[in-house]
Amino acid sequence: MQELDYLVIAPHPDDAELGVGGTILALKSQGSRVGVLDLTDGEPTPHGSREIRRTEPEAATQILGLDWRGNLGLPNRSLTADLEARERLAGMLRQLRPRYLFAPYWEDAHPDHVAASALVDAARFWAKLTKTNMPGAPHYPERIFYYFTVHLRIHPRPSFVIDITGHIETKMRAIACYRSQFIEGRSTAPPTILDDLRDRARYWGWTIGVGFGEPFLSREEVGLRGLRDLV
Ligand SMILES: [Zn+2]
Repeated sequence: MQELDYLVIAPHPDDAELGVGGTILALKSQGSRVGVLDLTDGEPTPHGSREIRRTEPEAATQILGLDWRGNLGLPNRSLTADLEARERLAGMLRQLRPRYLFAPYWEDAHPDHVAASALVDAARFWAKLTKTNMPGAPHYPERIFYYFTVHLRIHPRPSFVIDITGHIETKMRAIACYRSQFIEGRSTAPPTILDDLRDRARYWGWTIGVGFGEPFLSREEVGLRGLRDLV
């Protein structure tokens, strides 16, 4: 496995695209190595199947230009931040060695998202342990940035917003790969789910005075070397 600069950890295939899709594209355009690890296959859902849920992320991965994508094979709907899951995820972190992690925000109506958030916190710590049977060498990702794919109608209070103005169309194409989740069986009357997602990206862009944005929260303080990259 080749080492990554950034690893997005997603409870289900599509969460990475929804919460971090534009930022993945921005980071890729700056030459970073970016991967996505889906924790579950996301099934069952009303219009999906195991086969469909395998091919949809493959198509989105091509559009995002990811350097790596994997699936940890944990159980959808009953995802738990237990010791076995923690060890498996920590083992992946030790092999992929990302400098930074993206994890789902911890407050959510979806229990899988809550569990995934807690699991990333725990696995980040476990990945640095010595004298274990986990693969790879000890590794501690420097930061966790939490993204918002939240099933609660709450207003996030992000630490920062990334400008994704140049990447919104590609992000929307990546999301549209998930036909079984956002298009099949859904109302075509506006605003559609895709309209809604785009409008929210527009809102976050407005908050920082650009076209489109994605919000992130850091529990630890974010340090800057200067102010040149502020938008
Ligand atoms: Zn999800």
